[in-house]
Amino acid sequence: MINQRACKNCRTITDQAKCPRCGGEVSREWQGYLVVIDPERSEIAKKMGIHDAGRYALRVK
Ligand SMILES: [Zn+2]
Repeated sequence: MINQRACKNCRTITDQAKCPRCGGEVSREWQGYLVVIDPERSEIAKKMGIHDAGRYALRVK
């Protein structure tokens, strides 16, 4: 988890220097870990505007 970063734009968690999903800036300062398996059925995913399955940070600084 130590090298994991989160996208400031879409909150995707990645170990890349840039977000693989949207190409946005990533940050090491993030909190919370959300795994979305079925975005259609996840209330949290809907609230966060997530439309794709994946791993996300709840908060990104
Ligand atoms: Zn992104």
